[in-house]
Amino acid sequence: MPTAVEFIAAVAPAYNAAAEHVSAVSVILRFNLALSDGRTVPYEIEVKQVGDRKAMAKERQPINLPEFCPQRHINSDGSFCLYWREVSNLDISDEETAHAWWGILWKFLTLQARVKKARRWPNQNEWAHGAAAVHQYRAELAAHELGGEYVIALKERRLSVVKKKRVLQLLKDKNHLYSVWLDSKKVVNLKQRCLCGSTGKKGRKRLRRCGSHASDASHLAMALLLWEIEEKAFWHSFRDRQCCGTCDNCPLQP
Ligand SMILES: [Zn+2]
Ligand SMILES: [Zn+2]
Ligand SMILES: [Zn+2]
Repeated sequence: MPTAVEFIAAVAPAYNAAAEHVSAVSVILRFNLALSDGRTVPYEIEVKQVGDRKAMAKERQPINLPEFCPQRHINSDGSFCLYWREVSNLDISDEETAHAWWGILWKFLTLQARVKKARRWPNQNEWAHGAAAVHQYRAELAAHELGGEYVIALKERRLSVVKKKRVLQLLKDKNHLYSVWLDSKKVVNLKQRCLCGSTGKKGRKRLRRCGSHASDASHLAMALLLWEIEEKAFWHSFRDRQCCGTCDNCPLQP
């Protein structure tokens, strides 16, 4: 069976890309990335196999992209941080999954062209950094259970958490919605009306009697807390590194 990298190389012609095989687990891809404004950007991407069925990519020389930029999801070794959930679980084991990988690469590079122009990572699609990504994903799942209003609020970064003694408060647009005990992770007031707004015979349902919503609310608050902690740890790990200067709101020192 071909390796993950060989599958990626095999479908390269579909992207008008040339694939130069370095070895069974390493390939150089050359292609022109077409941008929406009509410009094309020539790219040389080095792809290396990671583990059995995954692949990492980096620009061969830092020509179009900075060498390192956590804000732009470029790791300190220049590899692209493709933490989108599609790719974090993507095993490249046939042409179809190889196309999916290319799709992510394309999305990443197209996004980079937008970032270069705007000097910021587009907020709406921002993907949490490093280990924070899994908590973002969990927060999204919980918000989805609670309803569209929460999905949107999460996306627009209007949900936040604050620790107050033994509880964690969840705020939406700075208004307190509910609290969760930090030790048991249970919602403090289960008699409060449910967040989803659904009604039963006696008016709006209570949180504890509204399907899985009490635990969804707890998961959401905890995920937001862990996301924040991981995000801080991520930036802290780069505290001695210099900013590449291509983003206006980079938390790294100039
Ligand atoms: Zn940077
Ligand atoms: Zn990242
Ligand atoms: Zn509910």
